[in-house]
Amino acid sequence: MRDADVVIVGAGPAGSALAMMLGRSGCSAILLDRAVFPRDKVCGEGLMPAGVEVLAGLGMACDEFQNLGGVTYRVPGAGSARGLFMNGSGGRGVRRFRFDQLMAEGAAATPGVQARFGCAANGIEHAGGGVVVKTASGDVTANYAVGADGLRSRVARWMGWSRAPRKPYRFAFAGHVAAPRHGLDRVVVTLLDRCEVYAAPTQPDELLIAVLGTKDALRREGETVREAYARRVSAAHPEAAVSPGTAVHGAGPFWVRPSSVAGRGVFLVGDAAGFLDPLTGDGMSDGLVAARRLAEIISSKRPEPERAYRRWEAGQWRRRVLVNRLALTLTGSSLLARRALRRLQQRPSTLDRLLQVNDGSQSLWSLSWRDWSALVGI
Ligand SMILES: Cc1cc2nc3c(=O)[nH]c(=O)nc-3n(C[C@H](O)[C@H](O)[C@H](O)COP(=O)(O)OP(=O)(O)OC[C@H]3O[C@@H](n4cnc5c(N)ncnc54)[C@H](O)[C@@H]3O)c2cc1C
Repeated sequence: MRDADVVIVGAGPAGSALAMMLGRSGCSAILLDRAVFPRDKVCGEGLMPAGVEVLAGLGMACDEFQNLGGVTYRVPGAGSARGLFMNGSGGRGVRRFRFDQLMAEGAAATPGVQARFGCAANGIEHAGGGVVVKTASGDVTANYAVGADGLRSRVARWMGWSRAPRKPYRFAFAGHVAAPRHGLDRVVVTLLDRCEVYAAPTQPDELLIAVLGTKDALRREGETVREAYARRVSAAHPEAAVSPGTAVHGAGPFWVRPSSVAGRGVFLVGDAAGFLDPLTGDGMSDGLVAARRLAEIISSKRPEPERAYRRWEAGQWRRRVLVNRLALTLTGSSLLARRALRRLQQRPSTLDRLLQVNDGSQSLWSLSWRDWSALVGI
């Protein structure tokens, strides 16, 4: 007898959504997290429409969170280009402290799900044709284990799948900044000299602002993290005020991909399965979409579920990598960024479509050669 069909390590958005979906499909799941909720997580807090749609499928209303109608890219002195979210529901600015709590509580309340918070997993073994997850309060046995334990996943490490982050190493400083009556209803990405400033509305009077770049670009010699952050924030958003009380958190380096995402009864989902540059803001929605697919695969009880998941996930990863590389190429060169911006101003539908490709609701093939030529500025 095993304790559950599936044991999930990590109750962030991906792990909690997966637990809810498995429970609803009649599978039993044990959901572990070393944290107790509410807990915070460094993030840009922009949930793309595909993620909102997954939550709607779970019956989770996102009404308490700020609406996001699209993304604006701007280069000071060269103007801006606006992309719209074309899916009906739009995106949301989700305060992670609250959002993750709602997700974890939703999972804990789902029949068939047993949640154990404040319980760290510290190893995985295989025994009797199943998996055993080791925790401080004893072993948990199941048919399958899922690592939903975020960037630098321990589950990936225990399986021997971890790989070092790719160069060039990029980092972020992020914080919640007071911006009285900002009126923002979209994500705004401002391209400054060698770094990008990403802003999402999280309250009517507050913005989440993340500054992204390499170590050298983010911080001058002798500058503190807060000083470096405040300098970039005031250049991009003079309406926002970084006060001495503003907590500024660091994250990175990014672009991490394990050598496998499934094998021997173990699956990785969300950031554990790979983390690209957060500039494209698709991490949470991608994790939710992947959780939905993994729940379908596991609950269908098909043979070789690992293979089915690996194949599906590889297609998702290819699309995400392409969009991520495109974004980094354009933002990494002031000349390319300015040229693309000019063309996207003339052809806004290209940006609308690119946002749909970014969140997986359209395939790469939906971009025409006219879209591609606008993106490369010709
Ligand atoms: C600077 C920055 C900006 C970002 N901006 C955006 C954005 O605008 N939009 C977006 O969609 N995404 C963004 N992301 C990415 C987003 O934060 C992640 O994609 C998302 O949090 C992934 O969710 P997850 O459930 O996979 O992992 P997480 O949210 O990281 O959750 C993992 C959970 O696993 C638990 N855990 C870890 N190890 C163990 C263990 N051994 N035992 C038990 N529990 C464990 C942790 O406590 C945690 O609760 C950004 C990320 C960064 C760093």
